[in-house]
Amino acid sequence: MRRNFLHAGSLISGEECMGEGRITQDVYSPYSGELVGKIDFATFDDVKRAIASAHSVFHSTMKKMPAHQRSDILRRTADLLSEKAEEFANMLALEAGKPLRDGRAEVGRGVQLLQFAAEEAKQLEGVLLPMDAAIGGEQRIGMVRRYPIGVVAAITPFNFPLNLVLHKLAPAFAAGNTVVLKPAEKTSLTAVMLARLFEQAGLPKGALNVILGTGAELGEPLVTDPRVQKVTFTGSAAVGLQIKSMAGLKKVTLELGSNSPNIIFADADLQKAAAGLVRGAFAFAGQVCISAQRIYIQRSVFQSFVAAFIPLVEQLRVGDPLDEATDLGPMINEGEAIRAEQWVEEARNQGATVLTGGHRIGSVLYPTVLTDVTPDMKVVCREVFAPIVSLIPFETEEEVIHLANNSDYGLQAGVFTKDINRAMRLADALETGGVWINEISTYRQDNYPYGGVKQSGIGKEGVKYALQDMTELKFIGIKLE
Ligand code: NAD
Repeated sequence: MRRNFLHAGSLISGEECMGEGRITQDVYSPYSGELVGKIDFATFDDVKRAIASAHSVFHSTMKKMPAHQRSDILRRTADLLSEKAEEFANMLALEAGKPLRDGRAEVGRGVQLLQFAAEEAKQLEGVLLPMDAAIGGEQRIGMVRRYPIGVVAAITPFNFPLNLVLHKLAPAFAAGNTVVLKPAEKTSLTAVMLARLFEQAGLPKGALNVILGTGAELGEPLVTDPRVQKVTFTGSAAVGLQIKSMAGLKKVTLELGSNSPNIIFADADLQKAAAGLVRGAFAFAGQVCISAQRIYIQRSVFQSFVAAFIPLVEQLRVGDPLDEATDLGPMINEGEAIRAEQWVEEARNQGATVLTGGHRIGSVLYPTVLTDVTPDMKVVCREVFAPIVSLIPFETEEEVIHLANNSDYGLQAGVFTKDINRAMRLADALETGGVWINEISTYRQDNYPYGGVKQSGIGKEGVKYALQDMTELKFIGIKLE
């Protein structure tokens, strides 16, 4: 299925802002270089109008909208997305270079995420406080209620152009907020398609405004505007830091990068671990924040793991994301693929061995497995965000905990062992926001608290948890006569 060419502009109060001196940028397929669409960049004035629209619709409509109505809008959006699943998977393949199979999985998760949000919208509970716990508190009633926070600025990355946008929009609307969304400039078309679904599902015009353009141009006027109450950002640590410093006293959620560790003990099922980690390291060409980047393998089974892993990597079908059979497509652009290839070259010059891959054709870097790496090589200590994984032997539990934690990041980890006591010791010791036992670091569901420590970020997503961060607690007291 091929989608029609899409030329999109920013959406403000339901109006598409095109032309009139705005810069138009072509959108090319990262794989074929074919022109797949165009976007008209928002101006400074557009950003301010988008915020004004969100601010006004929050006060006039969204904050008063009953929970059942917010829930219905989210459920209808889920239904519409489900109906248009192929169209979205196709757009993900065209503008992001995401293989169709991965794109369909992303759409499926998006539908579920909206369904979770539709349920959570009805569960915003408050509490009644035992006021008589304090001397003098008799004859008083105290309650705590949650209220929507107001205008949420949502800034999203290119790698999950649908799902990571939904991680912000769905809880925001479930809570009764309005949003100004700035999607990644590389993958804005999916975001515009999604915004149209929300509108079709009955979201009031102006509750969702989408501004298209670069973060460098639009970030500052969006993040610093006093009418914006909360900034929720997913992207790189460098940009996250800039946003935090611009945001002042606003609430901020930052979902940033990582170099996720996966640890395989000698008693693990090596075949299962190898099969899982091939997906974990190479899904969407490794451009996943919880991609398996460092695989630590107990030395006694190191060679057996290598023997199981490498043939599976070499079987991956590399090519056109629009081909049903493709496992691994391009990186987001050729510049990124060149950067990743250079990191491999640098590691090789510093003593690393390339077990397979390492070569590049245009924007496609072939799945690359390294060993003989050291902790200070870029491919190990920085976020590689490419189809590159390092296999690293270790001897003891204590040693591997130290190696895994020796990172600026801490998002999610995978541990493979049959020993439950060891598994729980690792779960306690690993400095990450999440630990999976007998599952790859790359696995995520959208209903659990997800978010990193250290430079991987601040705050949690996962509908229920994001929703809490997108509401304000208010105390209300009654003194009885
Ligand atoms: P990026 O940081 O380059 O861009 C993310 C967004 O920020 C884009 O919309 C961009 O336009 C915007 N931006 C850039 N400069 C800005 C500025 N000065 N002010 C405001 N906004 C600005 O990230 P990317 O390359 O699109 O995505 C890859 C990164 O995202 C990786 O580091 C990855 O780990 C991270 N990521 C994290 C998670 C998570 O949940 N923790 C999920 C996916 C991706």
